[in-house]
Amino acid sequence: MKNIPIGEHLIEKGLITAEDLQRVLAAQKDEKNKGKKMGDLLQEMGLVTENQFSEVLAERLNITFVDVDTFELIPDIVKKIPEDKARKYNCIALNKIGRRLTVATDNPSDFYAMEDLRGITGCSITFQMATGSAITRAIGKFYSKGATDAIVEEATKEKEEQMSLEDLVAEASNDRVDNAPIVKLATTIVENSFRMDATDIHIEPFKDHTRIRVRVNGDLVELMEPISSALHTALVTRFKITSGMNIAEKRVPQDGRMTQIIDGRVVDLRVSNLPMVYGEKVVLRILAGDSMVKKIQDLGMTEYNYKRFCECLKVPQGVILVTGPTGSGKSTTLYATLGEIAKPNLNVITVEDPVEKKIANINQCQINDKAGMTFAAALRSILRQDPDIIMVGEMRDEETASIAIRAAITGHLVLSTIHTNDAASTVTRLVDMGVLPYMVATSLIGIIAQRLSKTLCKECKQPVMTTQMDMELMEIDQPMQIYKRGGCPVCNNTGYKGRTAIHEILLTTAEMKALITRGAKADEIQALAREQGCKLLRDNASLLVQQGKTDMDELVRVTYAV
Ligand SMILES: [Zn+2]
Repeated sequence: MKNIPIGEHLIEKGLITAEDLQRVLAAQKDEKNKGKKMGDLLQEMGLVTENQFSEVLAERLNITFVDVDTFELIPDIVKKIPEDKARKYNCIALNKIGRRLTVATDNPSDFYAMEDLRGITGCSITFQMATGSAITRAIGKFYSKGATDAIVEEATKEKEEQMSLEDLVAEASNDRVDNAPIVKLATTIVENSFRMDATDIHIEPFKDHTRIRVRVNGDLVELMEPISSALHTALVTRFKITSGMNIAEKRVPQDGRMTQIIDGRVVDLRVSNLPMVYGEKVVLRILAGDSMVKKIQDLGMTEYNYKRFCECLKVPQGVILVTGPTGSGKSTTLYATLGEIAKPNLNVITVEDPVEKKIANINQCQINDKAGMTFAAALRSILRQDPDIIMVGEMRDEETASIAIRAAITGHLVLSTIHTNDAASTVTRLVDMGVLPYMVATSLIGIIAQRLSKTLCKECKQPVMTTQMDMELMEIDQPMQIYKRGGCPVCNNTGYKGRTAIHEILLTTAEMKALITRGAKADEIQALAREQGCKLLRDNASLLVQQGKTDMDELVRVTYAV
């Protein structure tokens, strides 16, 4: 290993130039940057990412770099280090072989920490390099569960001490009291849900308890033990206040938005309430916040589908539709597509409900039905704004669909989503919405139908042979070995870890356009699409099963359920 300064090393790696380094060194001398580490300055100045810097530093120190975000942490191993020490040194345990504990840290030269950890765990410590933010996220995820119980207990005890409802509500409204149990409980619920990668949080009132569930990987699971009904009103009030709803109004549904900073990230939430027999039910949808917009290559398309999709994107005008049920990743696909085609010389405008991710250099416009800013009204205004590319969040009604189709025919590229089961039925759906078949045929470039399929946990999946029924569903002739789910600590005993998208891409070829113009039915359209090389959702799900990535239950769920 050459012992050269990290700055030189970055230049050698081609990540920064000699001029960049001079600028950083000059900035380091600046009074306001006093005591700042070079790595932080490099990131602040946008020269390297946290990942890049850590990787180079690891190489320079000759230790292994580990991506903690994707590393499959095992709770029993993580807990070898007590929470206070993990937070103090910002480190997390990765692996234990015999008496050797491998620990991820962003400060591998902290020998005092190494000594301390050795004393506590009784193991010899091997440090690996990781980014500080990934470690902080992992700590939040793995140590936070136990904390909720204590908070609920505290809040319940307070209630039992004859605190009046008015007092509790007053407490919930007080922003300065971060320590008030109800405020802490609300914050912790959102934090823990976000760290579990949940998409929605449900606060549900029943006769004598309130259930708190979260949607993870598409399924609702209990976030924690049910809490006492005594806390319900205060908790709901807290969420109504933070999301800007009227707390006095309890009889009609409302909606609002809030943000919360979790592990250094700004997380946006859309909140709605609905009066039920035992009180108001609140649902919080966790929007992606400031996370990165995915690239098309990262959408999980097969090589074959990726090529077909790129064909669509070469066409400068027309309509590209993404279809699938709620929560099938449609917006992720739309955003990735926008990221790919939105060049600086084009005027890109979106109209969304809600704006889920904010993207640099794109004009995004939020629907507001109450104020008369509907999809159709917004679209009409956008057309007067000299657009090149228009993204319409959803073709919800006849009017929106027909304006969008006309915009495409008059020379714009329109991206949108629609609620249908598969690519072929999207065509008939448009016709049912009142768009003339020849208009559909002329404007359509392609349709992407998609679903999200859960992927099997690699640690515990079990090999099985296909049954006759499996073979029929998979459309294969010969029996083969596939996998079924197991259950282990890594996957919280669910047998699944993570999800992947599956796609079905229909291209409107000349022959297809002729068929659509004739007013063909969905099955005729699907037959021609298949003939022309379209792989159906079922084909793609079957492929995932054959590759051992998912099981038959998921194949059935994603291809037959609506
Ligand atoms: Zn598992």
